[in-house]
Amino acid sequence: MPPNADSACELCGGSGFVQVPPNERYPNGAAAICACRERIARRRKLLEIMTLSGLDEETFRRWTFDTFDPDIAQADAQGRAHLAQVKALCQEFARSPQGWLVLCGPYGCGKSHLAYAVAGAYLRARHGVYVSTVPDLLDALRRSFDGKKGEEPFERRFDLVRSAELLVLDDLGAQNDTPWAAEKLYQIIDHRYRRRLPLLVTTNANLYAPQGRIEPRVLSRILDGANLADGFSRVVLLGAGDYRRRGGSQERGRAGARRSQEAT
Ligand SMILES: [Zn+2]
Repeated sequence: MPPNADSACELCGGSGFVQVPPNERYPNGAAAICACRERIARRRKLLEIMTLSGLDEETFRRWTFDTFDPDIAQADAQGRAHLAQVKALCQEFARSPQGWLVLCGPYGCGKSHLAYAVAGAYLRARHGVYVSTVPDLLDALRRSFDGKKGEEPFERRFDLVRSAELLVLDDLGAQNDTPWAAEKLYQIIDHRYRRRLPLLVTTNANLYAPQGRIEPRVLSRILDGANLADGFSRVVLLGAGDYRRRGGSQERGRAGARRSQEAT
């Protein structure tokens, strides 16, 4: 049995081939590749990009566009309508990520749920994506850099993140920047900026506050051309309402532990 065929397949019985009845082109009939092989190849590819994506299966299953319900938020009608619009924008971005999308809002506004839903949808379409909270990403890079056992070599991991087809960074501004981490983060952002690679960022930091939590170099990249007609990045504010407390989602990341006054 070929390793790519399904041993329980009813069509080919696990051989990976089905018999095509005689026809004009093949008067004696022919063998064709069974559909199960394609199915298995697709599943394998999905698993492969999922392993590389940093997305765990639980999040992949739970945080989808289907489970994101704007009506769950404790917001007024206007707030819910706005959430619905942002959801639609994120769905569009997941279909065809172009430029940068920055979701800002306080803890519990649903931005992380949307970010992971974008990553999951993109992955389901068999595209490569890398998704992580910024603190986790920097920790992982640090472990690789320190050559910890079982870790991927630093250069490979760094390049995987930097050059991912789509990069989703949750909770920018929640990290404790050491000079090393700040430099790595800037290099990732700058790499994607110069190559115009798509990026989705969430943050509960106030982007427009003087001396905010995001490093000026990173911030200037993010805000470059934001909300201009031909702008490269788009900043969306999610406000009011508490999406999380009503059970719609659970924000991840460390920022959750310390609610930001800055962002409210
Ligand atoms: Zn088959």
